Amino acid sequence: MSEAAGISGFLTLKIFSLHSVNYLNQSVAKLTGIGAQTANRLEKLGIRVIQDLVFHLPLRYEDRTRVHPIGSLMAGMTALICGRVEFIDILPRGRKSLICRISDDTGFISLKFFHFSASQHNALKPGTLISCFAEVRYGFAGLEMVHPDYQVISNPDDFVTETRLTPVYPLTEGLSQTTLRKAVRQALSLCNSEPGTLVDWIPESILKQYHYPSLTEAIQTLHAPDESVSTEALQNGSVPALKRLAFEELLAHHLSLRKTRNRAKVWQAPAFTGDKAAAEQFLRSLPFKLTRAQHRVIAEIEVDCSQQHPMMRLIQGDVGSGKTVVSAYAALLALTAGYQVAVMAPTELLAEQHKRNFDAWFEGFQTQVVFLTGQQKGNARKAVLQDLEEGSAGIIIGTHALFQEGVNFHRLGLIIIDEQHRFGVHQRLALREKGQQAGIRPHQLVMTATPIPRTLAMLQYSDLDISIIDELPPGRKPIVTSVIPAERRAEVIDRINNWVAKKRQVYWVCTLIEESEILQCEAAEKTAEILTQALPDVRVALIHGRLKSTEKDAVMQAFKNRQIDLLVATTVIEVGVDVPNAGLMIIENPERLGLSQLHQLRGRVGRGDSESYCLLIYQAPLSDTARQRLGILRDSNDGFVIAEKDLQLRGPGEVMGTRQTGQMHFRIADLARDADLLEHIQQTGDQFFIESPDAVEPLCDRWLGASTEYSEV
Ligand code: ADP
Ligand code: MG
Repeated sequence: MSEAAGISGFLTLKIFSLHSVNYLNQSVAKLTGIGAQTANRLEKLGIRVIQDLVFHLPLRYEDRTRVHPIGSLMAGMTALICGRVEFIDILPRGRKSLICRISDDTGFISLKFFHFSASQHNALKPGTLISCFAEVRYGFAGLEMVHPDYQVISNPDDFVTETRLTPVYPLTEGLSQTTLRKAVRQALSLCNSEPGTLVDWIPESILKQYHYPSLTEAIQTLHAPDESVSTEALQNGSVPALKRLAFEELLAHHLSLRKTRNRAKVWQAPAFTGDKAAAEQFLRSLPFKLTRAQHRVIAEIEVDCSQQHPMMRLIQGDVGSGKTVVSAYAALLALTAGYQVAVMAPTELLAEQHKRNFDAWFEGFQTQVVFLTGQQKGNARKAVLQDLEEGSAGIIIGTHALFQEGVNFHRLGLIIIDEQHRFGVHQRLALREKGQQAGIRPHQLVMTATPIPRTLAMLQYSDLDISIIDELPPGRKPIVTSVIPAERRAEVIDRINNWVAKKRQVYWVCTLIEESEILQCEAAEKTAEILTQALPDVRVALIHGRLKSTEKDAVMQAFKNRQIDLLVATTVIEVGVDVPNAGLMIIENPERLGLSQLHQLRGRVGRGDSESYCLLIYQAPLSDTARQRLGILRDSNDGFVIAEKDLQLRGPGEVMGTRQTGQMHFRIADLARDADLLEHIQQTGDQFFIESPDAVEPLCDRWLGASTEYSEV
């Protein structure tokens, strides 16, 4: 009973009569002043239990700790003042308003109310002493405060300023700051009066290393900072208390992924021991020699696949670095060990290109490469599925159709996923489930041409081993990129004429800010029309996402065969198009796309051994950041450099993009503000597993919740 008595001095708890409950896990409805309705509103903010309140941090703070002399006010300040009413009046002009002038020994200021009551009018009689808190701005008659938060001071001796900064919390409709502040105060006092309720999972050694406060201290500082805390540091998020929590949260995400990786090691996988003769034959029959980087990654894959545990490897490599052939080598390992391979690509165009490549590369091997997309129906589909199930097909290449119902493998040993960030977690999961049985799981190789900086990879891909192809095949000439305002469009069109006269081909890419595919296609259609008229000697064709796959095929084939000079496209050609003779690309409104997407698009040119160009036609005026970003693209052809620079310019959140962050949502950490923390995550993660293995689980639970833990992908 003593625990309950201990806290009741401060708050009257409605329940909490049990001894061993962790109060913090109890519903917020158990706090004083929180009824069912308020509890519902809190739930909209993600606050269900008392601990959630503890982690619901202020958005900002108000300084009501000292009274500013009115004469010292300047527009833009938010300040607490104290003064006597000089006069009060209702202005009927325009919008009816209540004006009240107050002054102290140093000056005067007007207060303005557009909504007011008669009692308010009466209470603010001349001579009344009041305190006001609001932002100061320039008004009609000098400085003014609009709708200040004010209080009448009936006895000057009773007037006390706050001793701490006042927290301002994120709210939801119907919830007031006062209610939330009271609730948080109760939650905090529970933490304080019951040491150990709010467990600090970060070991002392790590706290010391980074000079971080303890959890209770950090929480206290953020909700109710005392005078020693710099207001500026609080406002800009650099206080150690906040850094500590952000760090803890990032660490939890990282640890959760590593847990996933450790768990995956429990599964068995077929060991591919490799077949030397086959490997030599494969390499000999390629029309090129592999780069050193490709050889290195192949060696890493060989080691992985020779283990009896599933490989979980990500290949990061710039556009054109030759990831496909590396994955084909992995496929060979599986085939020679008697297993099947599934290759999944995000678009049909890309899947078709892989099919052509694999067909060529595996020609001399006794295996059948089959193809499956959503478009295939009837007997053709049936035949493919049968070959797969019986095992006569060794490799299947396709789109997400691969994991649909009715697709059954005979003996799936390896899954290859291209452009992995384009797939949802569930799609990847579903494919793997097809191949897993009796504790055995296929190896997995995923590839991405969207390099992300190392520090972000620590956070995002900590469940995968990473290989990097950091070298392009020899002989590639860098793409020359220019940034051109839309007024010079005519010049650009001229350039197309010259280019086509030299028997070279061109891409014209239309971008649109809307996600709507229909609108994108319409824009491309219109552009194609205009260009057809402007360029009578040029054969123009159009490709976009709404064409049937046979139509797309026909267009692509014609472009490959040089029956088309200028291909107008939407961003569907972002991946998978390989036409070396096309060496000029025009991208309209590049400012609408992310840098890495632009870099990928641009990667469609520069595939042959002659010069190639990319013209970025922007709509003026450009923002400063947009100008700098396009400049980055102009100055570099290296995807990793581009990603790093973009990171510095825009912050990690933007670089990762929503598409890539997947399910990473942070409550406190802000990747832009807390980018400096990322560097230490990996090493601290190692230390954590050694020093506090038992804390991993509860720490992940605290930040990710038991249910939102990253699924194994
Ligand atoms: P990405 O990494 O963007 O997927 P691809 O695998 O499509 O790149 O390779 C781009 C082009 O380079 C393809 O035409 C491929 O056949 C070719 N290629 C791959 N490796 C080499 C190499 N070592 N030397 C020359 N060309 C190569
Ligand atoms: Mg590729």
